[in-house]
Amino acid sequence: MMQFVSTRDPQERAGFSAALSRGLAPGGGLYMPQEWPAVSSAALAPGESLATLAAKLIVPFAEGDPLAASMAEICRQAFNFSAPVVPLDGDHLSVLELFHGPTAAFKDFGARFLAAALGRMPRKSTRPLKILVATSGDTGGAVAAAFHRQPGIEVVVLFPKGQVSPTQQQQLCCWGDNVLSLAVRGSFDDCQALVKEAFADPDCKRRWELSSANSINLGRLLPQAVYYFAASLAIKARTGAAPAFIVPSGNLGNATACVWARRLGAPIGQVVLAHNANRTVPDFLEHGVLRTRPSVTTLASAMDVGNPSNLERLRAMYPDIADLRTHLSAVSIDDGAIRARIRADHEHYGAIWCPHTATAAEAYARMDPAHRQAGPWVLVATAHPAKFRETVEPLIGRPVPVPESLELLFRRPARFTEIDGTMAALRSVLEG
Ligand SMILES: *Cc1c(COP(=O)(O)O)cnc(C)c1O
Repeated sequence: MMQFVSTRDPQERAGFSAALSRGLAPGGGLYMPQEWPAVSSAALAPGESLATLAAKLIVPFAEGDPLAASMAEICRQAFNFSAPVVPLDGDHLSVLELFHGPTAAFKDFGARFLAAALGRMPRKSTRPLKILVATSGDTGGAVAAAFHRQPGIEVVVLFPKGQVSPTQQQQLCCWGDNVLSLAVRGSFDDCQALVKEAFADPDCKRRWELSSANSINLGRLLPQAVYYFAASLAIKARTGAAPAFIVPSGNLGNATACVWARRLGAPIGQVVLAHNANRTVPDFLEHGVLRTRPSVTTLASAMDVGNPSNLERLRAMYPDIADLRTHLSAVSIDDGAIRARIRADHEHYGAIWCPHTATAAEAYARMDPAHRQAGPWVLVATAHPAKFRETVEPLIGRPVPVPESLELLFRRPARFTEIDGTMAALRSVLEG
């Protein structure tokens, strides 16, 4: 039976279902696979559907768990949209587009997998299951979309009032039914603190079964390894070489998934982390000392993280910093460079980047030619630019075409409840 082990305590173990429903391990650690199943790449033909590839990759992690039997079905439900690799500059530079899901960011993959898995778990209690999610932007929308109208589950989205873009707010508030959207008078940190407080509150625990769907959950990470596997196999088949990936990074969930795919045998060369002005990780790799700090606000807001949670997983894999440096490198890109890159690549390639994707494009543009030879390179496009049209349109001087999925969300009526950032206020809306 496959077990997952806490990064903080080797005695803290859980099977697949328990790791997914808990999120965080008791004691605050993150779950890591106890071993890495050998995936035979012969069994993984390039060009297979994502859902088929996903089921083959993930089922060994669920070995001995009741969910293993429904893995094919879970993956069909989660991977019902594509992650195309689009050439940008011949065979040398491509874009992995992760924004074709219902809320147009890569978080749809993880959120949909988690929803499909949790929806098939037998419930231990008769208390209603509430998923609390604090969000500064993309996560809340993806989680709400994934669980929308799922029977027996309610989603409560907490976002900082007045601190998300109009486009983002629409995506957090357009659901209704089993999704409750709360505009909290406070900061994102206040929203996160409230969620933590609710989990610790004995009264809440007695009345509801609470769960979280944040990015440290294994159920969001594992499915993200799938598109790296698929993309690297496709590029290897086409060019004969193992591609290198540049991943726009905040909490390092997406980058960790890329490293996991490589660990599982995907033909992946270098992995470069592109951060915004929040330089905790680039500084750590450079100086070898981890100095976490409060986040600073940037244009690439979904990456405004001063203390990236999944760094703990990467350090657990490569405890020696010298070793870690051979597996990863990182750069920091400030807002001025993000703006300039969106303009420049629109002019040069006709490409339109969201501010997050632009950090990856800028990291590539800064590389010296010798380093580029280590490619083929893949820019990971984490969100559709239409989600950030307020930023992007003035830079490129034309409207960003809106994909149909977002158009549908924009047309839905938005509703939210405004609350103070206190436990009493949260409890009173949870009671309905
Ligand atoms: C969440 C997000 C990121 C950062 O991903 P992590 O897994 O937290 O590193 C990057 N870009 C977009 C558009 C996001 O929504």
